Amino acid sequence: MTTHERPLESVLETIGDTPLVRVQDGVEGVRIYAKLESFNPGASVKDRIGRYMLERMLERGDVPAGGTIIEPTAGNTGIGLAIAAEQLGLDAIFVVPERFSVEKQQLMDALGAEIINTPTEDGMGGAIDRAQQLAEELDDAVVPQQFSNPLNAEAHYATTGPEIYEALDDEVGAVVAGCGTAGTLMGIARYALEQNPDTYVGAVEPEGSLYGEVVGEDREEDEYKIEGIGTHDPSTNELFDPELVDEVYAVSDREAHDELVRLAREEGHLVASSAGAASVAAKRIARGIADGTIDVPHDTVVTVFPDSSERYLSKGIYRSFDEWSS
Ligand code: PMP
Repeated sequence: MTTHERPLESVLETIGDTPLVRVQDGVEGVRIYAKLESFNPGASVKDRIGRYMLERMLERGDVPAGGTIIEPTAGNTGIGLAIAAEQLGLDAIFVVPERFSVEKQQLMDALGAEIINTPTEDGMGGAIDRAQQLAEELDDAVVPQQFSNPLNAEAHYATTGPEIYEALDDEVGAVVAGCGTAGTLMGIARYALEQNPDTYVGAVEPEGSLYGEVVGEDREEDEYKIEGIGTHDPSTNELFDPELVDEVYAVSDREAHDELVRLAREEGHLVASSAGAASVAAKRIARGIADGTIDVPHDTVVTVFPDSSERYLSKGIYRSFDEWSS
């Protein structure tokens, strides 16, 4: 793994090669590891797709030099795209539903992007429609569209997946990650299944999200507090390929919150609710491996902690569950 021992030319080169760290509250006989994506310069997993998508789009001529990108985003993708856009000479406009954290919007603004808010009740679907409409009105404007652009998952196939295998000398039994666009999980899963078709693949969603329905399970749509993962609307799960997934794990707000609090107090991880959910699901898989209900080629489970809790302090992430979720 590269450890950035040499001086680098730009912040873009600091993206990726994040640490893979053992989750200590594991299950006897099974090792759980988490990839700490807050170590990226924009402090989330989405820096990877910001750089990868824009570099490929410029190479292919999908966006003209000096053009504008317009993206519907919960925030982390906006930050990742804003860092890359600035370095690659592009302008950036982000369409963000109001419910998402104010810290992320302040950071996108600091990076020179323009932000347009859409009503919370229109959901991510509303933000996607608004971004498309704006792109039609402006010259040289393109929507990278993380929810349907295969380059999103490809970024993880090209970087996150190989980094995991290198760190564990190929001894990967199961991979599990939260699904927002599902780019992270799909890219890692494709890479993992190519290394060993018996690798177990788990998807994580909040209770109330509908990824489970895509794999034929019963789900009831409801609201949830966990931020950054889940789907309510088919336009936000186009990248998700049910063929690659063994099971979709639904995690409650309370379980995710208890776990993110525990991860901070006991293991020193300042991570947010989607990481809490990922850790809960990783432990469920580890228990399945330990009791023999889940078959894996190695007794290891790898997950992703997508970002940092610092980004959610204004939302009371470390207050009691009732205060955070009300
Ligand atoms: N966690 C957080 C905090 C996120 O912002 C996102 C992206 N929306 C994810 C998890 C899920 O990543 P992906 O879109 O690759 O499924």
